[in-house]
Amino acid sequence: MTYIGRFAPSPTGSLHIGSLVTAVGSYIHAKQFGGKWVLRIEDIDQIRTAPGATDSILKTLDAYQLEWDGEIRYQSPETKHYIKVAEKLILQGLAFKCSCSRKKLKMVNNDSNAIGIRCQSNCWTEENQLGPTSIRVIADSSNINFVDYLQGIQKCNLFNCMGDYVIVRRDSVPSYHLATVLSDDLQGITTIVRGIDLLELTAIHIHLQQILRLQTPNYLHLPVIVNSKGQKLSKQTGAAPVDNTDTTNIAVKVLNYLGLQAPKELIGSQPKELWNWAIKNWDPKILNNKKQLKIDTL
Ligand SMILES: [Zn+2]
Repeated sequence: MTYIGRFAPSPTGSLHIGSLVTAVGSYIHAKQFGGKWVLRIEDIDQIRTAPGATDSILKTLDAYQLEWDGEIRYQSPETKHYIKVAEKLILQGLAFKCSCSRKKLKMVNNDSNAIGIRCQSNCWTEENQLGPTSIRVIADSSNINFVDYLQGIQKCNLFNCMGDYVIVRRDSVPSYHLATVLSDDLQGITTIVRGIDLLELTAIHIHLQQILRLQTPNYLHLPVIVNSKGQKLSKQTGAAPVDNTDTTNIAVKVLNYLGLQAPKELIGSQPKELWNWAIKNWDPKILNNKKQLKIDTL
């Protein structure tokens, strides 16, 4: 099977150094396997989409000579398809409509003594639904176990650690879980390289793949870059956009985060040359068990 990897940013703002590291990590991992690397813009949540963000992301990928294969895929035109898939799960008795707010959902015991979040208002009957409804998948007591290429064996009892999870939000927007799982399937993604902040959500994604009878890809969760306060870099924590002018120096820094020390003769080279060197030399195992990388340690 041909390796197909991806980078799938949400256009909520410009890329920061943390997201660039994830992009480069997923790129060099795919290319090391002789694979394709595709680009998806996760713009399903139009409210969070920032004007100009997609352009800014593409400009940065261009500046850093990260060439994706094929056409860019956008999620927003696929919204109706995602909702249809969710509605089919209701008909199959695997999901239900729920009008409860997060506050109203309670931690409860199910028959196997697991403790999870469950709707207590019997929303599955229409007369108990008050106002707009989300669609939640019924979490059973199944154990979702998988091996992350970098973080090792992961175990999760679905009901215990997740409870009934949302696949369509109360504002009728497909959730990140549903959109990302369906998009990965539509794009034939075989390996997902992304930040460790998404590791705990992977059990949900695998459960969704199982009930939708989709292939489960391989997962590799990279450590995330945190600021001096230990917060993951993001727009909310004030992360600065990547500088598109100082690309050679920043590319060397990005490789450092990925555990790679570019040789002296490559310092000052174009990013593309650095990536080509990295494709030959990267061993993700060097990041084994690392969860966080401090931004100012380099
Ligand atoms: Zn409910």
